Amino acid sequence: MADTAVDPTTAAGREPREHSQDPPLADVVPDVAPDSARPTHAGPLATAQTQLAGAIRRLGFDEGMHAMLATPRREINVAIPLRRDDGTTELFHGFRVQHNVSRGPGKGGLRYHPSVDVDEVRALAMWMTWKCAVVELPYGGAKGGVAIDPRNYSTAELERVTRRYTSEIMPMIGPERDIMAPDIGTDAQTMAWVMDTYSVNRGYTIPGVVTGKPLEVGGSLGRATATSQGVVHAASAAIREQGLELSDVRVAVQGFGKVGSHAAAIFGQSGARVEAVSDQYGGVHRSGGIDVPRLLDHVRETGSVVGFAEADPLGNADLLTLDVDVLVPAAVEGVLTHENADQVKARWVVEGANGPTTARADEILADRGVVVVPDILANAGGVVVSYFEWVQAQQAYWWTETEIEQRLAERMLHAYDAVAEVARREQVPLRDAALLIGVQRVAQAHRTRGLYP
Ligand code: NAD
Repeated sequence: MADTAVDPTTAAGREPREHSQDPPLADVVPDVAPDSARPTHAGPLATAQTQLAGAIRRLGFDEGMHAMLATPRREINVAIPLRRDDGTTELFHGFRVQHNVSRGPGKGGLRYHPSVDVDEVRALAMWMTWKCAVVELPYGGAKGGVAIDPRNYSTAELERVTRRYTSEIMPMIGPERDIMAPDIGTDAQTMAWVMDTYSVNRGYTIPGVVTGKPLEVGGSLGRATATSQGVVHAASAAIREQGLELSDVRVAVQGFGKVGSHAAAIFGQSGARVEAVSDQYGGVHRSGGIDVPRLLDHVRETGSVVGFAEADPLGNADLLTLDVDVLVPAAVEGVLTHENADQVKARWVVEGANGPTTARADEILADRGVVVVPDILANAGGVVVSYFEWVQAQQAYWWTETEIEQRLAERMLHAYDAVAEVARREQVPLRDAALLIGVQRVAQAHRTRGLYP
């Protein structure tokens, strides 16, 4: 291969930053790449491919390496018939994509959401590849999804969907092949069903096939809050670079699910003022800070942050442009775009969600001096503790919560420092620096392994 190892710390800045327009979708992957690398719409895959193309240019890699890194290694598309509780049958589409497995087994979540499609899953799998490399985990990147709105189905129906999906993708997964975890619309119980289905079919208990499991079937202490804890570590490291502490900042969090609700709680416990949060139904705002534990009680009772009496109502879109210091998008992709990025007032955007910022919004934010702590760094705490869970399951030996918290903090801060160092030296945004590190590490694994045959 023509590529030679390029040190990301010297390669950045080789080309001036392109500006203003997103490149035409067809141009972000080389001609030699297959359709599975080519975005069909301006969604998350276009963002992911644009990010990769930028890193490839800076690293000086050739078209062959670009095509290889732009293209999923394996993917499976499955039909999932569900026998509903009323006896009727409904069909769903599911996917599992292994973007890259050169550094180890595929690792990535399972998403249940009505808008899931294969392009979204490909993008999420690619981001997992760079993320695992940035935090130096021995994993590749993968992701799964089923196009279903879980709110419309009973627990028994969701169990049947999960077990059927698992059995359909069975040849692709396993503790040494591809390891699932919760994502939007799935949780620890979903992982228990996946683990049980896989284990029953193999004939013995195999906890390492999933992470984010309940504790009683081999889950890890600290996993439920790990992504959010990592977001707070990343935010804290970023604002400390400007001489501030968490107690100096006002925070807005979009999304109040597994990531957003714990992040809001941990920001609050760390002294930050959480002034606004939202979920898909709407948001709430209170200058001076929301009492997050009381909001959590309200959400447990009503299912939404909307209607919380101790704060004012706030439109979901308005949260993104609120006058706060730290904005944490922790819901879905593509919420910061060229249409609202110039109105963002926060000084820091810390990406709890995967892909919340489009490529063009990134440029606008960078030009305005807004620091974006990118998803592949900021929300890596989840996969870090998933790795700890997998290691513990493989060894059948369990660590204390304090051990897990300390090791998570060390890994997050070490990764943040490495990314910030490249960003400073090369005068590039944190996302570009993180991508340079991640893409370079994956490319290096390809070169070292060589091409077979
Ligand atoms: P979740 O299903 O638990 O919560 C999602 C939340 O987002 C819900 O509160 C929902 O109401 C809200 N939401 C959905 N659409 C919205 C919209 N348009 N505007 C505002 N809020 C909206 O999912 P999660 O696990 O918390 O995942 C959230 C994000 O974090 C996703 O991008 C996911 O990929 C990413 N992530 C999750 C983990 C993890 O460990 N769960 C790890 C890394 C990254």
